[in-house]
Amino acid sequence: MRKHSARTILAQAGHFIDSVTGAVTPPIHPSTTFARGDDYELIGDYSYSRYQNPTYDQVEHLAADLDGGAEARLFSSGMAAITAIFETVNIGQHIVAPTIMYHGAQDWLRRIAEKREIGLTFFNTTDPHALRQAIKPGKTDIVWIETPVNPTWDVIDIAEAAAVAHDAGAVLGVDCTVSTPITTQPLELGADLVFHSATKYLNGHSDVTAGILVTRETDQRWDEIKFIRKHVGGVLGAFESWLLLRGMRTLSIRFERASSNALKIAQYLEGHPKIDTVLYPGLESHPGHEIAKRQMTNGFGGMLSLCIKGGATEAKAVATRLKLFVPATSLGGVESLVEHRASVEGPLSQVQPNLLRLSVGIEDVNDLIADLKQAFD
Ligand SMILES: *Cc1c(COP(=O)(O)O)cnc(C)c1O
Repeated sequence: MRKHSARTILAQAGHFIDSVTGAVTPPIHPSTTFARGDDYELIGDYSYSRYQNPTYDQVEHLAADLDGGAEARLFSSGMAAITAIFETVNIGQHIVAPTIMYHGAQDWLRRIAEKREIGLTFFNTTDPHALRQAIKPGKTDIVWIETPVNPTWDVIDIAEAAAVAHDAGAVLGVDCTVSTPITTQPLELGADLVFHSATKYLNGHSDVTAGILVTRETDQRWDEIKFIRKHVGGVLGAFESWLLLRGMRTLSIRFERASSNALKIAQYLEGHPKIDTVLYPGLESHPGHEIAKRQMTNGFGGMLSLCIKGGATEAKAVATRLKLFVPATSLGGVESLVEHRASVEGPLSQVQPNLLRLSVGIEDVNDLIADLKQAFD
């Protein structure tokens, strides 16, 4: 449970006040090494920055508070964090993950399944029984979900997934990159590990690549994850850590604005004659809307997809005509982006060729709607 609301926790970034100078923002600690005392004992909590650094600590404390977890660890990218989790799975064990999920994480799962005799079952997120059927009790070690699922924004019921995973003796890990701690609290709903690609909303300015893991308990798996970060060395630089902390201070207002902009855009585009479907969990027509209302308690986020009438050519033509939406991959920045997802994911992609993904930023929504209007006209 969080002590204060996310807005307060973030704005004050851990209520930092420097005891020597009174500074209200933390300093950056670029030092890679930390001096010792007369008896060669450590003076503070730090010895070497691949292990830990005071600037990472700042971000990790904030992230743990925000998700209501026991501890957090910062990584040099989202994928460095995800791969650290799956490094804890032993040969002969089994992983369950959604058929549609972040493609980089899926590629990695396929690789370790092939190389290490780890079982891997993908489940269809639109079938409510599929997760239970995919699990192998006693063998499944990790159930991994992402919600809403990129790029269809299907919503997975976290509380139910946690119950199903725990029944089978597995842990539940949740990729919460798209919903963020502003609107979804996976640990409170029963998840064991939460992952954020901090490259996206948490930093929010498209200028830092980072990942964060938060754990509910400091158990054996968590010790192993910390060991992996320490020895594989996927740590963030001190300057990037500090930038991320700075970005996180405005997360709540950025996410809330992106959510309200995205809802207005989804409502404007729904029923548009040039569009087959608008996929946004905030729309009543979306299949995941009922679950979303329960587990996205402060906005449905800034991500939506449009299935354009026609195929890849028509979809790409719309993307090209947009002037404000920048044609680029990634999400969660202050600026709006448009992406032809199938092109980005490549030949293995399961995404429909007529799908355009929008990452809605914090611009004036009327300007964004006018841009979409001219691109469709
Ligand atoms: C971007 C992203 C990742 C990977 O994070 P990186 O910071 O790019 O390594 C994982 N999951 C989701 C949902 C993402 O959007």
